[in-house]
Amino acid sequence: MAREVACKKCKAVTIGKVCPICKATDLTLDWSGIIIIFDALKSEIAATLDISIPHKYAHKVS
Ligand SMILES: [Zn+2]
Repeated sequence: MAREVACKKCKAVTIGKVCPICKATDLTLDWSGIIIIFDALKSEIAATLDISIPHKYAHKVS
């Protein structure tokens, strides 16, 4: 199974080489915690993290 990487810009977690959210290629293996946003408009966590697209995000990216 491929190791997931997190985007350094928006913290989205992916197994690809390009961030599916902001299209950045600045991805890192060094992340921890997982936040899954289903409904960004209703989620307080999403508002706090400034997330607007439902996706899986890392809590902490180094
Ligand atoms: Zn991104």
